[in-house]
Amino acid sequence: MREEPILVVRPSLPPLEEYIEELRPIWDSRWLTNAGPKSKQLAEQLKSHLKVDNVELFANGHLALELAISALGLKGEVITTPYTFASTTHAIVRSGLTPVFCDIKEDDYTIDVSKIESLITARTSAIIPVHVYGNVCDVAGIDAIARKHGLKVLYDAAHVFGVEVGGKGVGSFGDMSMFSFHATKVFNTVEGGAVTFGDPAYAAKFESLRQFGMDGQERVPLIGTNAKLTEVHAAMGICNLRHTDEQIAGRRRAVLRYRERLDGVRGIKLCKPAVGVKENYAYFPVVFDGYKLDRDEVLAKLNERGIYARKYFYPITSSFECYHGMFEIQETPVALRVSKRVLALPLYHDLAIEAVDEVCDTILGA
Ligand SMILES: *Cc1c(COP(=O)(O)O)cnc(C)c1O
Repeated sequence: MREEPILVVRPSLPPLEEYIEELRPIWDSRWLTNAGPKSKQLAEQLKSHLKVDNVELFANGHLALELAISALGLKGEVITTPYTFASTTHAIVRSGLTPVFCDIKEDDYTIDVSKIESLITARTSAIIPVHVYGNVCDVAGIDAIARKHGLKVLYDAAHVFGVEVGGKGVGSFGDMSMFSFHATKVFNTVEGGAVTFGDPAYAAKFESLRQFGMDGQERVPLIGTNAKLTEVHAAMGICNLRHTDEQIAGRRRAVLRYRERLDGVRGIKLCKPAVGVKENYAYFPVVFDGYKLDRDEVLAKLNERGIYARKYFYPITSSFECYHGMFEIQETPVALRVSKRVLALPLYHDLAIEAVDEVCDTILGA
């Protein structure tokens, strides 16, 4: 057992002095929330960092997703995958929509575009795919189906901060994309989130939706909620954004070492680096399929040594007890199979190469 455990994630923090400097003007002005200068500055910086046309900030990624569904006016059924965090499916169900579960691909665990069309009915209003682990969905294939059938596309982009495809920001695909700035994500504001979108007409709607649906002091045209990002959180984002690129480089070093040690081992399946994609190395999922130990045995072995990994994602959301009896559950054999065999290994920007080696030694049984 190690003295210090190796955790599965570790939040990035800026130097404390840097954050204090960023807080000073907030103390001076006492402008703490409600679209102050810090959140305006962060939104502007993110627009260029993420290479998108429009960014709206929210208190967290989940509320951003619910408000994106609301702004898009989605109704009826939406096609999505069950191989995701609870948030994606909960946002759909909490919005009064019916999730229709599509299976995922074997290689990168994103939505299997060849299985979408057979799930479309007269009630389908949108596709909500997930760029899972930082792997980008088949955005061109999804776009073609959406155009043909007049569907909206809303990406759960919680895992793909800073990812680019052919030089384009990943948040510029589809009608909208939701990013999460939770403490454990590649870029964080402690808690926070954003929606990126092409049509500027949505900006005013988001402003209203996250501020109780109000338009000024006396008009309330929408049934909104409270989902504002505070100035204190925006200041954290401004500081963290200065360090994100170097942190992604640190993640990359760890991932390259993992790949060096684990790639090609019989019964261990890794995601391949994507061609033409600027990656963010958000997670390192490993699927144990036909390995000498099963997933749970590997996890137990790691835990014995003080190393933490996560069954991410297990179980699939379509099996959550809270949905029992609410709607039809489509079978998604690939997602089910992967969820029973996957482990996300420890990964963060300052994870030491020696720690990566220790994780790999434990898995390989040295
Ligand atoms: C983190 C996450 C969310 C929710 O984001 P929060 O900012 O934690 O509310 C949604 N979807 C996925 C895939 C996530 O990983």
